[in-house]
Amino acid sequence: MTAGPVERGHWVLIAGGAGFIGSHLCDRLLDAGHRVICVDDLSTGRRANIAHLERRDDFCFLERDVCAGGLVDAVAAAIDGGRVSAVLHLASPASPPVYLARPLETLAVGSTGTANLIAVAEAHAARFLLASTSEVYGDPLEHPQTETYWGNVNPIGERSVYDEAKRFAEALTAAHQRANGLDARIVRIFNTYGPRMQPDDGRVVTNLVHQALEGRPLTIYGDGTQTRSFCYVDDETAGIVALLDSDVTGPVNIGNPNEFTVLELANTIRTILDVDPGLEHRPLPSDDPKIRQPDITRARTLLGWEPAITLADGLARMIASIRSASN
Ligand code: UDP
Repeated sequence: MTAGPVERGHWVLIAGGAGFIGSHLCDRLLDAGHRVICVDDLSTGRRANIAHLERRDDFCFLERDVCAGGLVDAVAAAIDGGRVSAVLHLASPASPPVYLARPLETLAVGSTGTANLIAVAEAHAARFLLASTSEVYGDPLEHPQTETYWGNVNPIGERSVYDEAKRFAEALTAAHQRANGLDARIVRIFNTYGPRMQPDDGRVVTNLVHQALEGRPLTIYGDGTQTRSFCYVDDETAGIVALLDSDVTGPVNIGNPNEFTVLELANTIRTILDVDPGLEHRPLPSDDPKIRQPDITRARTLLGWEPAITLADGLARMIASIRSASN
């Protein structure tokens, strides 16, 4: 393991860099003085998310599925034999309806994709950061969730294509860490929202914000008493970069510990927009976690990180960005 922050001036590879969180990481790591190679097959990412970066000579885009063979050579060719100092694996569908529609691709990117990206990191003796998820805790029996909790996942349920893929990706990362000395970091990302979420991604924040903006009823799955803890994307990416630059090798929860029911989220959005579009109840998806809240003691104490943006502020920023894009 190399100690200290990732050295500036070399290439940081961001797999899934045209996606929601990945594209914000491209911006943040370029600002920090890295060169960035974004690898994305655009299956759920969007070229528009990185369009503002494409003319920069410290940025390059490789359109490619990370599950395809030959990734080490393809990366070397794209950066003209340059050095990769870190590999960040953000490549995966992340919204439940999207990963449920692509079950095999989701399992492949968590397994084969992770193996291929670790191979790139090992070829360059680079640091490897895995974007894992609160979904490794499944429908949790411990609340809030600490990193020492092993989770409650139905291994053959519909949702397992995402949950187990991420659990396998963590296992593979930890095995390479032990067997080969891979310089690895694992971030467990909790629900994140903000600009560049795809309007039709099907997640609760995007659905409710767009429904409220369009005066349509807000869709509440189940009775709306299930909870989530929502983190604004700028806070999330600040935490991920703090972990990347740290010496903390075990998993770290990065999320906002303020917990809301889905009904409270709907009410916050109605209040911000000063609208009352009504609610439309729909069935709860299978294995939908009933509660979720990160314990961020490790992030606070080891990284000195905690989120700063409230749900109301973050939603207002997201709504402003949607409005300015549609003007
Ligand atoms: N949900 C909802 N209405 C929607 C979309 C989602 O009530 O239009 C619920 C969903 O059942 C879950 C929570 O909101 O309980 C968060 O769902 P999301 O898909 O955003 O992410 P998850 O945390 O389940 O991965």
